Amino acid sequence: MQISADKLTAFISRIFVTAGASAAFADEVAVHLVAANLKGHDSHGIGMTPAYVHNIRTELLKVDAEAAVIRDNGAVMVVDGQFGFGQVVGRQAADIAIERVRDTGVVCMGVRNCHHLGRIGTYAEHCAAQGLVSLHMVNVVGHDPQVSPWGGRERRMTTNPFACAVPRADAPPVVLDMATSAVALGKVRVAYNAGNRVPEGALVDYEGAPTTNPAVMYEEPFGALGPFGKHKGYGLAVMCELLGGALAGEWTAQPENHRSHHIVNHMFMCVVDPQAFGGVEKFQAEVDAMVDYLHSTTPAKGFDRVRVPGEPERESMALREADGIPIDDATWTGVLKAAEAAGLSTDEITALVE
Ligand code: NAD
Repeated sequence: MQISADKLTAFISRIFVTAGASAAFADEVAVHLVAANLKGHDSHGIGMTPAYVHNIRTELLKVDAEAAVIRDNGAVMVVDGQFGFGQVVGRQAADIAIERVRDTGVVCMGVRNCHHLGRIGTYAEHCAAQGLVSLHMVNVVGHDPQVSPWGGRERRMTTNPFACAVPRADAPPVVLDMATSAVALGKVRVAYNAGNRVPEGALVDYEGAPTTNPAVMYEEPFGALGPFGKHKGYGLAVMCELLGGALAGEWTAQPENHRSHHIVNHMFMCVVDPQAFGGVEKFQAEVDAMVDYLHSTTPAKGFDRVRVPGEPERESMALREADGIPIDDATWTGVLKAAEAAGLSTDEITALVE
């Protein structure tokens, strides 16, 4: 099916309100999830709704929790998300960092105990909108690992995302935002739901052999996601685990830590005010010149043009804002079931989505 962003946002927000969230928080989460769909990341879009509703009902996700500063050492801060909506407490943490960085020039913040933060680039874009550079290293805990280390068979980590944004004066920011697994787990879920294969090199089966069948993540005998970029992607994933998990969250994927059916993100976030470097104009001129230089590259065979990170998401957004957001049947069925589980009647659901 195809649905407009506005209608989808109103529906998803209503699900969270019915499940117990305030209208403001429900709207913020719905806007974030639908924006992920608009930007082409269906893995982190409204398909997460069933998991969120489940976690609200089991009280693993606290609908009214807010970010709380638990350590304040000037440019170094630790914020506890208290298992609130990641979209809310993650943005609140970013706001705290944005306010502080005007005094300190740089803020290194540990953001811990957030229910799923969703699309990490959202927080990088939030900082970039204020003219700030930011870097985000995240781990994921609360459930069994899904990603095997480079050279290994068993799962030891999760998809540990990394994001970084560089603002531009008169253009959208450059935004790198990615899982450190070969693909995001949600993309495997979307492929599984749609009966599609995943790209080669993304998955291994239970013997560690490469496979393109997403079922290895959901049906026995289980396989694993692999890291992107062989040992280098694995290395970046380890650093996300150690900085996001050990330093910011004091909770890594190692087996002594508890694993329930939870989705918890810890984030190491570094926010930098380019003003503190003293030469914002020169910085921006160099960014623009370098982006132009990259864009001027002759496309390789099979490519239409060279892009910088963040552009594919803006292209997807333009298309989906115009045409609506495509949702596969399995994802939509899951969302409808979540709406019922939250407490919406069939008539209410019909009125919201038709
Ligand atoms: P992806 O592989 O689609 O994109 C990764 C990055 O590459 C993006 O910044 C994109 O702009 C850039 N890119 C893509 N094609 C490009 C091109 N041709 N030229 C230049 N740049 C290009 O992303 P992914 O790894 O599948 O991650 C998807 C999302 O999942 C991300 O938003 C991430 O934050 C999110 N995620 C979240 C969690 C969590 O626990 N909250 C875990 C994993 C991933």
